[in-house]
Amino acid sequence: MIRLEFDGSEIDLKTTKIIALARNYKAHAEEMGSSVPEEPKIFLKPPSAMIGNNGVVILPKMSERVDYEVELAVIIKDSCHNISPQEVPENILGYTIIVDITARDIQAQAMKAGMSWAVAKGFDTFAPIGPKIIPANKIDASNLDIWLKVNGAYKQRSNTRNMIFSVEELISFISKIMTLEPMDIIATGTPEGVGPMNDGDIIEAGIEGIGILKFRAEKES
Ligand code: MG
Repeated sequence: MIRLEFDGSEIDLKTTKIIALARNYKAHAEEMGSSVPEEPKIFLKPPSAMIGNNGVVILPKMSERVDYEVELAVIIKDSCHNISPQEVPENILGYTIIVDITARDIQAQAMKAGMSWAVAKGFDTFAPIGPKIIPANKIDASNLDIWLKVNGAYKQRSNTRNMIFSVEELISFISKIMTLEPMDIIATGTPEGVGPMNDGDIIEAGIEGIGILKFRAEKES
């Protein structure tokens, strides 16, 4: 189980699901050759994929290309279902950083075959998260610089104001489909600049006001 600092103490992330957004930044949709969606496009990542700060992401033998995707993560506070965008803020515990690790070649095969992204997005260690949860009332999630470096060099650099759907819109939409439980995580989509990781790479993912999440990539032996 992942433990993260929250408001001066540590809490267990007893997450029942990670709901992630595909294409929630226009420039990323464009770099993937995809259209900008009319409504949020979601998929699930298994909570078993989570690792904490300073962990190791294993690049599986099954994939030739594993990518990083830095994202703002929303942590849900209370069980909620079918809530309006206006009701969303009171249901947010706080914010942290998640990297939605993706086996890009496996994802491409799945898309071609009309299959889900469960394999491409679901390997163990494919969801580094942390370093801590910032209480919802301490930051403005709609205007935060977001970036990712590989071996010290910037690869992704944007701001959450460039999201297509806001945190409020996303969570309201998702809550109309599935009940959100305490500690569930919404990964709000990645900006442009996604790319592959190689054995030994050091990745740092940062969001203004939250901190830096760091991990190392290691090829499966
Ligand atoms: Mg993503």
